[in-house]
Amino acid sequence: MRKFQRKIEDFKCDNCELYIKGNGYTNHCPECFYSKHVDVNPGDRASNCGGLMKAVDYGEERGGEYLVHQCLKCKRQKRNKISKRDDYNNLLNLVKKLNEERV
Ligand SMILES: [Zn+2]
Ligand SMILES: [Zn+2]
Repeated sequence: MRKFQRKIEDFKCDNCELYIKGNGYTNHCPECFYSKHVDVNPGDRASNCGGLMKAVDYGEERGGEYLVHQCLKCKRQKRNKISKRDDYNNLLNLVKKLNEERV
């Protein structure tokens, strides 16, 4: 039987050490937007990589805005939807930085 797994767990950001209260959806830090490589499929926590994932790109699609995270360990890339509780000013700064790096 396959079920969507929604685990509510608190975690600490490996990059900026912010303590994040889990809501079962967010897997990235709302302050610095780093994530951790723990999933193979969203929410399954089946990856044993555990590498730090950095936001390397940003985009928009029908469902809303997303960040592209790249694992610093295995280089895998993953899209993550931007969550409502992500810090909007920090997000704007990040997008600005990404755009500057792209030039
Ligand atoms: Zn952080
Ligand atoms: Zn990885």
